[in-house]
Amino acid sequence: MATPVNIVEGSYVWVEDPEVTWIDGQVEEIKGDEAEVRISDEKKVVANLSKIYPKDVDSPADGVDDMTKLSYLHEPGVLQNLATRYQLNKIYTYTGSILIAINPFQRLPDLYDPQMMEKYKEAPLGELSPHVFAIADAAYRAMINEGKSNSILVSGESGAGKTETTKMLMQYLAYLGGRKEVEGRSVEQQVLESNPVLEAFGNAKTVRNNNSSRFGKFVEIQFDKLGRISGAAIRTYLLERSRVCQISDPERNYHCFYLLCAAPQKEIEKYKLGHPKTFHYLNQSNCYELDDVSDAHDYLATRKAMDIVGISQNEQEAIFRTVAAILHLGNVKFSKAEDNDSSVLENDESNFHLQTAAELLMCDPNALEAALLNRVMVTPEEVIKRSLDPNGAAVSRDGLAKTIYSRLFEWLVNKINSSIGQDPNSKCLIGVLDIYGFESFESNSFEQFCINFTNEKLQQHFNQHVFKMEQEEYKKEEIDWNYIEFIDNQDVLDLIEKKPGGIIALLDEACMFPKSTHETFSEKLYQTFKSHKRFIKPKLSRTEFTIAHYAGEVQYQSDLFLDKNKDYVVAEHQDLLTASKCPFVATLFPPVPEETTKSSNKSKFSSIGSRFKLQLQQLMDTLNSTEPHYIRCVKPNNLFKSSIFDNANVMQQLRCGGVLEAIRISCSGYPTHKTFEEFLHRFGFLAPEVLGENNDEKVACQKILEKMGIAGAQIGQTKVFLRAGQMAELDARRVQEL
Ligand code: ADP
Ligand code: MG
Repeated sequence: MATPVNIVEGSYVWVEDPEVTWIDGQVEEIKGDEAEVRISDEKKVVANLSKIYPKDVDSPADGVDDMTKLSYLHEPGVLQNLATRYQLNKIYTYTGSILIAINPFQRLPDLYDPQMMEKYKEAPLGELSPHVFAIADAAYRAMINEGKSNSILVSGESGAGKTETTKMLMQYLAYLGGRKEVEGRSVEQQVLESNPVLEAFGNAKTVRNNNSSRFGKFVEIQFDKLGRISGAAIRTYLLERSRVCQISDPERNYHCFYLLCAAPQKEIEKYKLGHPKTFHYLNQSNCYELDDVSDAHDYLATRKAMDIVGISQNEQEAIFRTVAAILHLGNVKFSKAEDNDSSVLENDESNFHLQTAAELLMCDPNALEAALLNRVMVTPEEVIKRSLDPNGAAVSRDGLAKTIYSRLFEWLVNKINSSIGQDPNSKCLIGVLDIYGFESFESNSFEQFCINFTNEKLQQHFNQHVFKMEQEEYKKEEIDWNYIEFIDNQDVLDLIEKKPGGIIALLDEACMFPKSTHETFSEKLYQTFKSHKRFIKPKLSRTEFTIAHYAGEVQYQSDLFLDKNKDYVVAEHQDLLTASKCPFVATLFPPVPEETTKSSNKSKFSSIGSRFKLQLQQLMDTLNSTEPHYIRCVKPNNLFKSSIFDNANVMQQLRCGGVLEAIRISCSGYPTHKTFEEFLHRFGFLAPEVLGENNDEKVACQKILEKMGIAGAQIGQTKVFLRAGQMAELDARRVQEL
């Protein structure tokens, strides 16, 4: 990504530094291909010339608002520009049409107020400072002017600011497409209020973010012919189920549990609740409260938001009753029965919680107890009833809790969608995607596998957009261009999703075969992908595998892949809740059609991986039919602090988000494209004689470039294409002339 510039003795440069990634200094001496760089009075380093980048000492003190305006576009330049701007609270920066947003970790005054919205309305992109509103405005304008659907893809790692950004985008779109005369609940208000509802049930405190979304979300906002919001649809992806039963310190379970424990006294009594620390599903972690958040206040706020999105009082009551039931269920403990391997309820307290859970779910307590303690196995030959040991019973209990919760969440999403309503006549929509970024932890399981699969898909979409659009533009304009090779990630996608033979397909096969274990599954992977370039078998491991993702290698632990891929509700649990006297609970568990229950093993299993793959394909189809806009959110540090900019960390995120790759590609081509008209408007006065000659636009542009001594730029059919830095050069001349 280096711009070829001669480095000489005396040059100001950037050199790599183990601590701050890049550090600046001045070249003292050059010997062969090595340079000695003086960093400070005390410190000198020697580095290879190929690893040194020129530093632009004339760059504006407050940075540039678009990376393509940097005179030298390289890693250290990008980083310094972002850091400089961040210190000045300029959290947004463009890279061409991509918006980079750095989490300010503080409320920035006036940045999102209505005056700001008014300011950005109809302002051409790039005229005002970079902003989320500018991206939303561009998407809206493009939709109105071209009658085409648009989408805005917000990505970044956990805590980077995706969800906040998404909310701002939605607010701005509601502002543009809202109706002035609000009659009670307007569509746009419902769209906005869907956020707090989904956050109460789908967000939780994690170590990375106090309000971390544990699901992916695509909001499709529909517009009518006049550009007004006429409907919306929310699609969600992969809610983290395990959190309902298992949390680790200092994280929390889903917010709704704590909200409910902070509800008005009447509710607490009705649901027999107490302090969160009295519940097993909450007391596995010592964190109960969040800084600056009042659960009591948020409980009421959530109820209000539920009113607005059209969830009735009765439904709300049933929802929270179900949430309370899950807490009680979690407190049911088991111990070994005296005479055999089966189990019994541990004590009176467990019995109390079981009775309460049954009462709240309005189902038969004896049936609930039986469903937790026993398991019926249906084989083609016979029906076997088996008692579970205490451990098995606890697993059964947790399975039930997770199933109820995930059905509840699905219900909420469906309810919100049906109450906002879809506009069947809408031709145009703007989709906003808020989805988990690339994840690579010390231990990575099936969830990370699905998340990283998503990111591979989105990365391909991004690549195709940035690179192919760029190439197509060059082709269309018939300019000479040495096509740079772009490294596609199709091979990783094949590894994961190819049918048959990809990892997901092999996992499904393993799940359908009763004797499989994670060892046999891993062995199958090792054999199948022995020579796959993107697949690595770690030495000495028999159950782990590594995938070389576009953003780096990730090692996955296969232990729970089979369990986590299987999504079936135990028949006893299903029957129990289908029979609930509470209509709400019963609708969460509609009766399963006869055939599927009767037929043997295979059809009972439904694969989470395959279903997710399908969902993802549908999402990609939708995205492919839209004009995309990208926002890359970046987390400046892991301390949630407002003033710290951690270079290495930011660099890694820019790499994972494909930002560096996009810059590299764009720089090796012609990062600046200007229509003849724009070009003449901007630079015409540098050569007034050319304008006077009555040349056609194309010739005039050519002559200006020649006069200014700009070499290597190209003239297309309708636009001038400038190489990296040339725009800066011309602008400098312009400034001199003014
Ligand atoms: P993500 O969805 O990427 O995990 P969030 O959008 O939830 O991250 O942001 C995490 C936290 O960072 C928010 O709760 C908020 O405190 C802070 N934050 C993010 N974006 C902004 C912003 N634009 N202005 C102020 N604070 C922000
Ligand atoms: Mg989020």
